[in-house]
Amino acid sequence: ARGLTKVYRMGEVEVIALRGVDLDLFRGEFVVLLGPSGSGKSTLLNILGGLDRPTEGTVLCRGLDLVQATERELTRFRRRVVGFVFQFYNLIPSLTARENVAIVTEISENPMAPEQALELVGLSKRHDHFPAQLSGGEQQRVAIARAIAKRPEVLLCDEPTGALDSATGISVLEALQRANHDLGTTTAVITHNADIARMADRVVTLSDGRIASISDNPDKIAPRELFW
Ligand code: ATP
Ligand code: MG
Repeated sequence: ARGLTKVYRMGEVEVIALRGVDLDLFRGEFVVLLGPSGSGKSTLLNILGGLDRPTEGTVLCRGLDLVQATERELTRFRRRVVGFVFQFYNLIPSLTARENVAIVTEISENPMAPEQALELVGLSKRHDHFPAQLSGGEQQRVAIARAIAKRPEVLLCDEPTGALDSATGISVLEALQRANHDLGTTTAVITHNADIARMADRVVTLSDGRIASISDNPDKIAPRELFW
């Protein structure tokens, strides 16, 4: 991403959410995005995932320029290339865990079996449970299984443990770690969870719409291959 600016306009009021952000995501790495409330983290993640367009700037991923792309190209990109996980799991209450995953695998090109995705997040014994019969951490792991079942190249997570206590957050952290390690999924996570920040290859800190710092984890040797 280069020179990303995002201005939200509501009538007379303008909010500048991003003020010229340059960011590279390298294949296979695990990046954590930190920053105070309102610093632009969600705005940035949504633009990287093709959910929103910047006011200015470019985003390139696998040869596709997300800013110039047609709606049709963006839809295809969102379906095939990226997986999303949000703070509130957005599971369909009337479907079992397996069915919640299957609705995504049915429209994917090269999906894994829903059972395999649930196994990867440590939920092999919960296939037939409905969301209301699962704990918060289990529901979030179903959401992660749903996001990774289509084998996305990039997994984007916006405060995936934000609604969970820290002990429950660990099971979600492990699920993200398996997606990154076992599947090689490039992963970017907005989080205030210190345990997740510790496992990152790099920590990117935003402040008032700008990147304030990028720090490499000295314990990890991250790959440095770009997507374009
Ligand atoms: P948090 O940690 O609270 O989730 P954030 O870092 O994710 O914050 P953003 O949601 O990206 O921050 O918001 C950045 C700025 O843009 C904020 O000032 C916010 O009020 C504003 N903003 C975000 N979305 C919209 C929108 N749809 N319309 C108008 N303003 C918005
Ligand atoms: Mg946010």
